[in-house]
Amino acid sequence: MTRRISIFGSTGSIGQNTVDLIARDPEAYDVVALTGGANIALLSEQARALDADVAITAYEDRLEDLRAALTGTRTETAAGAQALCDAADRPADWVMSAIVGAAGLYPGFATLRHGGTLALANKESLVTAGPLLMAEAARNAARILPVDSEHSAVFQALAGEDISAVERIVITASGGPFRDWPLEAIAKATLAEAVAHPNWDMGQRISIDSASMFNKALELIETREFFGIEPDRIEAVVHPGSIVHALVGFKDGALMAHLGAPDMRHAIGYALHWPERRDLPVARLDLAAIGTLSFEHPDEARFPALRLAREVMATGGRAGAVFNAAKEAALDAFIAGQIGFLDMADVVEATLEGVDREMSLSIPPESLDCVANVDHLARNMARAHAMDRAG
Ligand code: NAD
Ligand code: MG
Repeated sequence: MTRRISIFGSTGSIGQNTVDLIARDPEAYDVVALTGGANIALLSEQARALDADVAITAYEDRLEDLRAALTGTRTETAAGAQALCDAADRPADWVMSAIVGAAGLYPGFATLRHGGTLALANKESLVTAGPLLMAEAARNAARILPVDSEHSAVFQALAGEDISAVERIVITASGGPFRDWPLEAIAKATLAEAVAHPNWDMGQRISIDSASMFNKALELIETREFFGIEPDRIEAVVHPGSIVHALVGFKDGALMAHLGAPDMRHAIGYALHWPERRDLPVARLDLAAIGTLSFEHPDEARFPALRLAREVMATGGRAGAVFNAAKEAALDAFIAGQIGFLDMADVVEATLEGVDREMSLSIPPESLDCVANVDHLARNMARAHAMDRAG
């Protein structure tokens, strides 16, 4: 039986890895929607290769290019944020959510409304609107499968186990390119240095978030929201090799670890074939060649994002939406060369404090519109803080 598949963010790093797996077995899938941004050449190439029903670019001014690139095919074209949500209304059995940032929230929600399976790479959805997202899935008997490597690893370690027997969840962090840099050097880090991740080949934004550990901060919150476990039972440990992705500790002291090569096709493929396991084109580990696995505590003085994540989890409510929006705005400012690497955490902290003075952060957002309003407010405030620092 063919499965209907949509990929939101198909031109990104996760999206391309997903397309790679689908393209290996074209008979098994009917591709409904593919979406991208400005890379029209890649989006149209994917749509042709997979014979997609519709291709959508996020940018309305790129629609003509997309239409021209797909002339002579049966693939429909569309553009803009509303078109992305409309595409999520097209029935599909399995939908990959791999847009980067808060923009991934609405299409993911639309998917859940139809009761399909949402493979969730877009961690921002859980950080900004976790309780709403989980409730929407439950209401429609839809399923969310984690695609972040750590969360896929936890999900796999929990198979057949009772969540009430879990004592703690440990997610690993590579430590990124600045793991052993002195603070003064990190303060002067350039964009190119921040993007150069030692182990994983990822999109630009998540690579910089890995260097600042904002990615791990988002993942701590993602763990809390997805698995419903108390924040003090969630740990991050630095593991420079990126071989162990996560560990689940049980009441009896047992730790179940998930090991694998750092290749996102593992987590994507697991979500694609779940509940089965199928052959995946990922490298097999040679443990003797690896030799040793090392672990260390993260340094919260050099990576304040982790401390901020703890505060966000303790506050709950709207804090996650503020944290993510402020982080996205601070990241924009760093990429634009307006602020330094360490300014990003200062901007996020100042924004959390600033929004807290305007509204009670601990009140849960009652709707997606509320999340969008909080996001808007926090983004503007963070931009203002960034401009102050830019002088
Ligand atoms: P990427 O930057 O490589 O790709 C992002 C995709 O989203 C592209 O298709 C782009 O066109 C699209 N996009 C960007 N802005 C958009 C907007 N405003 N509206 C609509 N579409 C937009 O990102 P990525 O590294 O593939 O990451 C995607 C998501 O997966 C992120 O949430 C990231 O945190 C998560 N993730 C990525 C990895 C990884 O290995 N890359 C691992 C774990 C989780
Ligand atoms: Mg991850």
